[in-house]
Amino acid sequence: MTPYPLPTIDHGRCTGCRRCVEICPTQALAQIGEKAQLLHPELCTYCVACQDVCPENAIALPFLVVFGSNQTALPSLRTEND
Ligand code: SF4
Ligand code: SF4
Repeated sequence: MTPYPLPTIDHGRCTGCRRCVEICPTQALAQIGEKAQLLHPELCTYCVACQDVCPENAIALPFLVVFGSNQTALPSLRTEND
């Protein structure tokens, strides 16, 4: 299973031009019928090439927001004389 969120393809927008299928460096995408499909999600490296090349804006790559683990509150520097 890929550690990344996966691209989603809006089949209502996809015209089946195959550009994403041809540019995908890992062959994660395939054309099935008239639409592009993420046939092998385990091969996707989340390179975003498919999203960039799609003329119909049919491909979306949701970004995973990861917050750092160092967001603890700083200790107060106030003293009794403050
Ligand atoms: S590039 Fe866009 S329109 Fe073309 S096949 Fe891929 S998803 Fe469909
Ligand atoms: S993000 Fe990259 S590896 Fe994943 S399907 Fe799109 S072109 Fe292929």
